[in-house]
Amino acid sequence: MNLPLIERSQQNKERIAIVATEGKFTYRDLLETSAQVAACLIEDSQDLQEQRIAFIVPSGFEYVAIQWGIWRAGGVAVPLCVSHPQPELDYAIGDSGASVVIAHPQFEDLVRPIAAERGLRFISAKELYSVDIGFLPEIALDRRAQMLYTSGTTGKPKGVVTTHSNIKTQVTSLISAWGWTSSDRILHVLPLHHIHGIINVLTCALWAGAECHMMVKFDTEAVWNRIVKSNLTVFMAVPTIYVKLINAWESTNPDRQKVMSDACRKMRLMVSGSAALPVQVLEKWQNISGHFLLERYGMTEIGMALSNSLEGERFAGYVGKPLPQIEVRLVDENGDLAPVGEPGEIQVRGPGVFLEYWQKPEATIQAFQDGWFRTGDLAILENNNYRILGRMSVDIIKTGGYKVSALEIEEVLRIHPNILECAVVGVQDPEWGQRVCAALVLQPKTSLTLEALRRWAKERLAVYKVPTKIITVEGLPRNAMGKVTKPKVSQLFEQKS
Ligand code: AMP
Repeated sequence: MNLPLIERSQQNKERIAIVATEGKFTYRDLLETSAQVAACLIEDSQDLQEQRIAFIVPSGFEYVAIQWGIWRAGGVAVPLCVSHPQPELDYAIGDSGASVVIAHPQFEDLVRPIAAERGLRFISAKELYSVDIGFLPEIALDRRAQMLYTSGTTGKPKGVVTTHSNIKTQVTSLISAWGWTSSDRILHVLPLHHIHGIINVLTCALWAGAECHMMVKFDTEAVWNRIVKSNLTVFMAVPTIYVKLINAWESTNPDRQKVMSDACRKMRLMVSGSAALPVQVLEKWQNISGHFLLERYGMTEIGMALSNSLEGERFAGYVGKPLPQIEVRLVDENGDLAPVGEPGEIQVRGPGVFLEYWQKPEATIQAFQDGWFRTGDLAILENNNYRILGRMSVDIIKTGGYKVSALEIEEVLRIHPNILECAVVGVQDPEWGQRVCAALVLQPKTSLTLEALRRWAKERLAVYKVPTKIITVEGLPRNAMGKVTKPKVSQLFEQKS
């Protein structure tokens, strides 16, 4: 059997699939170029047999052709983050056991040494397209398709593995719930190593035979220009992006504001997710755009689980009801169903739920209770709509739509010669959702400014993981067991601001 995404594209060959800085591309272009990529990857073998193929390519036509090429060759796509420094890329390449690393010329210098060091095949993206298309294997839907790296409480990110069947469920659930059709045109402004950008925006659009307008990176003015000029029908973003768009709208002149607002009003759907949407942001955006944002809740491991309704009433501060093909329940601390009206951990079951954490069987087993995935998020059901109360673990920080592990940041900060001890926490912030803040105990007779720490940390951590506030303390607050009490650390920052 051929992959459904490929089969469906055969029906839409002459339609525009991608609009990007490189130009406009049809579904025929995607089919042909991805077949070349697949042929180049397969070489003399029949099928990649789920080899992991890591790739670092900016958002655009090439990204999609490579992703599809990996799938058509029978490989597992491991998209790398274009803004990560070398150590983080090295971790994902090493942990996934990738056999091949593909890089856009812009990233060659960054990842070629990693491939060389690990003895892996390295392919520059420009060498991918010259091969004659030969035999391509048939891919069963229960095979592994993708691995996305996500942070957990245990520090280092884990590879979340989904099958083609998982992806099909995640996508078809959203296609029916959000009314996707081939007439849609969506603006893609999100990173392409994360589920939001890969599944909700890119794959839903292409599954529907719609147009996906891809921007290399988010830029507020450029996004507003595209909204005004591109006759879009759908837009999806994280709350931080809506905050930036609001700020830009507020600081422009009334004539331009009207043009911007009119363009938004012509769209059929605007969605927010990946972090809690503050009600003030929802209200401001409604005044500007006429859209009451559709908020949804999901996770790398499960795809989307809860969503406000497309046609029915939406409620500010709520993420709605379970999506098609998803079952949701709330469970209390004892592992029993939470009593009606009481908060509980969101647990999720259904064919869209991921297969495994890559080579972490223990972590995979622990992530489930009786076949239900334990999300680690707390929620409450009120008037048949779910309200998210937050992460159960304080160590996961959501900043600007990214999820980062405090433990992982602490590991890195502790390498700094002036830092004796540290504790990283997320402190609520209207723009970023949470800010990464670090309480530091310094080595005797040393000092450290925020600027100096940030310069140092940016070489070792993705920029959104680098603390934006620090505080120096004599000692960290600890409980009787000697464990650092994070809520007390957070209070230190709240008292300060
Ligand atoms: P990720 O796997 O990076 O997409 O992060 C998933 C996490 O983001 C969830 O476990 C939630 O903690 C959080 N999240 C996603 N959507 C929402 C939302 N609408 N409201 C609050 N938190 C959300």
